[in-house]
Amino acid sequence: MAAIIMDGRSVAARLKETAAQEALALAQNGMMPHLAVVLVGENAASQVYVRNKENACKKAGIRSTVLRLPENCTQAELEDAVRALNEDASVHGILVQLPLPDHLDEAAVLRLIDPDKDVDGFHAMNSGRLMNGQRGFVPCTPLGVMRMLEAYGIPVRGKHAVVIGRSNIVGKPMAMLLLAADATVTICHSKTENLAQIARQADILVAAVGRPRFVTADMVKPGATVIDVGINRVDGAIVGDVDFDGVSEIAGYLTPVPGGVGQMTIAMLLANTLDAARNRGQ
Ligand code: NAP
Repeated sequence: MAAIIMDGRSVAARLKETAAQEALALAQNGMMPHLAVVLVGENAASQVYVRNKENACKKAGIRSTVLRLPENCTQAELEDAVRALNEDASVHGILVQLPLPDHLDEAAVLRLIDPDKDVDGFHAMNSGRLMNGQRGFVPCTPLGVMRMLEAYGIPVRGKHAVVIGRSNIVGKPMAMLLLAADATVTICHSKTENLAQIARQADILVAAVGRPRFVTADMVKPGATVIDVGINRVDGAIVGDVDFDGVSEIAGYLTPVPGGVGQMTIAMLLANTLDAARNRGQ
């Protein structure tokens, strides 16, 4: 039986509409939510991502400012820019677009962002809060995956969730969120033995690997929910980490790429920015 394709565009569109209503309500109370994005250099994919974020903010009635720094900017210049945004009371959310050019220390920059403005949720304070079950900013992509599961009524409690990938921005927070939702969670990575066998046990399989079509039909339990986080460029096209054609024959639910998780990520960025603005208003 063919899988139900989870339509990230329509779920995200509903969430963006909610964000627009919330932004309007804040504006009517004299608060203009404001996201500041720091973009260093000319990375083509980053330029596209930042433009998409700007457009989404504009449509939702959220102010966005993009601070562009040259490819050869120094660590000190970048850190000064982040400090200035931390101190700017009109800015509620700060996002440093990754990856940074190689000569810059990404971890040091992320550490510098005020955790209360860290709408990407990458600061160690926010990772710690997620780990401890405290309120904080959660990285947008895994948060978007949880919203997608909710939107399709996919049960998580007591289910076996397998996350392939253990990065700080996707795999680990994804695993923590699934655990918080009472799934039994297994995390796989490049050193995992018998990965296909583990993946086949998953009721919910999340692929955040960064390898085109890594998850094939033989790695999927019939009827499982398969979430494809991957964004890979192959011969000019965008493909996910899941072999869509093969897996759609066996999975119960499947997210497409594009049109799946990527759409949810931006919707969650809007939601986090609104949270940051509301938190300040309290
Ligand atoms: P990453 O930092 O490169 O992490 C990839 C993870 O996959 C690592 O934990 C790595 O294991 C694991 N891995 C790599 N090769 C493997 C293999 N052969 N077998 C098992 N595990 C393997 O990537 P990321 O930032 O998490 O992103 C993952 C994917 O999601 C990328 O395609 C990225 O473009 C995409 N992404 C999408 C969105 C969105 O909005 N949809 C947002 C962020 C990222 P080790 O830890 O052992 O190296």
